[in-house]
Amino acid sequence: MHCPVCQSENLTEETSFSMFHAHAMFRTTEAGLLGPKYVMAKADRSRVCLDGGYLLLFVGEKTLERLNERAGSRA
Ligand SMILES: [Zn+2]
Repeated sequence: MHCPVCQSENLTEETSFSMFHAHAMFRTTEAGLLGPKYVMAKADRSRVCLDGGYLLLFVGEKTLERLNERAGSRA
């Protein structure tokens, strides 16, 4: 893995990440009681580039699974 900004491979190990309200919402084709359902993507893992300080954020495995299901259902 490398930094998407400076391409350095000098990254920290992965660690937990927490940011209370920040998340991305992806609309699905499923309908819920109150309208369309969404996949809520929150970053919960991170690494930092030790050369440039860029913070790389990653969603959890469960969210990744749901986003891949969503991508499959749109194809
Ligand atoms: Zn970097």
